[in-house]
Amino acid sequence: MKILDIRFSVKNGKVILYFPPEAPRVRILREKTEPAKLMECDRERTPERAVVLFEGCPERLSAHYMYRDDTTEVNGLYDYWITELFEDGETLCHPVLVRVRDEEIWWPREKYERYMEEIHRDFPDRTEIIECGRTTRGYPLRYIVIGSRDRCAAYLGAVHAGESGPELLLPAAGRILSTTPELFDACGAAILPAVNADCREDMVEGVPQYIRTNPNGVDLNRNFPADWEIVNKGYGLSTDCFLDGTYRGRSPASESETRAVIAMMEAVKPMVILSYHWLCGICEDRLLISEGAREDEAYMGVYRQIMDAFHQGFIKGLGLPPRKKRLEPCCTPGSLPHWGYLRGIPAFDVEGNYEPQFMYPEFEGCATDQTTREMLALALDCHEGAMRRILQYVGGMERFPLR
Ligand SMILES: [Zn+2]
Repeated sequence: MKILDIRFSVKNGKVILYFPPEAPRVRILREKTEPAKLMECDRERTPERAVVLFEGCPERLSAHYMYRDDTTEVNGLYDYWITELFEDGETLCHPVLVRVRDEEIWWPREKYERYMEEIHRDFPDRTEIIECGRTTRGYPLRYIVIGSRDRCAAYLGAVHAGESGPELLLPAAGRILSTTPELFDACGAAILPAVNADCREDMVEGVPQYIRTNPNGVDLNRNFPADWEIVNKGYGLSTDCFLDGTYRGRSPASESETRAVIAMMEAVKPMVILSYHWLCGICEDRLLISEGAREDEAYMGVYRQIMDAFHQGFIKGLGLPPRKKRLEPCCTPGSLPHWGYLRGIPAFDVEGNYEPQFMYPEFEGCATDQTTREMLALALDCHEGAMRRILQYVGGMERFPLR
């Protein structure tokens, strides 16, 4: 099969293909696939049950042609092939695989930006939207501060593109603000909904596979100036190998997203940092902390209280009694939790559970890219509960001296 540079984007559930064919005419084929996981395109795959969508000369933009497929369904996963049609024969090109994501589950940038503006419009005296930097591709990174600026919990979403963020953090805060605004008298929440906003938008716009790194291939959660020099070999990868998913970057804070987070933290001076991870819009109540804090009793005590507050608020959303959780000091050099710890700010990566005794079957589908609106709504109940408890805790906690 020939390699043809086929690009795509998905808007409002419809797929648009862009391609530069050499032939005067093309045939466009499509085959629906059942998603079993966060799938990657099999470039050697040939059409078996494909339908012909189009034959002829598509709309010409420039050197590129465009074809818009209006017949896709939300949550569909589709292989597209283009066959170049010449006078004396035809050439089949490698496929592209496109995932039509549900914009109620994967909020596009435009939607979460609008949501922040709506909160600000409804509560102008209690909120502020602040730009803290730009993404690698030059888009503004903006966070919203709700409530007291003096005693903030900082929330970050989507440090890793395919994980969780805007859809949980913003509506959780929005609901608390609408129903119990007085909770924000003694404390505040500063929320940057998507840190790795560029690659997250790639997933919103149809990239089927899991993306972790930013557009430069850097794992932002290894790029912070926090013992960055120490190479880590976790997950069987190496943070000093530029091809690995945990690549730390060429220097500490080399990435504009990392610098934006640092600028936000320096402005907000948060009491606590919670960075949301896990998969496909869903996050649970497994809190990871810096491995450097393992022997630090003063910090471990506070980490435990914050973890318990988070868990107790979270599990109420499921109608379950609290469980005994354990602290996991495993965040590596270059990670945000380690950066927070070195500066005197308790910081957590919030993850999902994989040990059988802690797993929540309600959220299992997210691991295979099967997050549903119902699942997200339940997760939102849980995270609203967790945020309430964290805000209450932060309202009364003592600040560590910033180091
Ligand atoms: Zn992650």
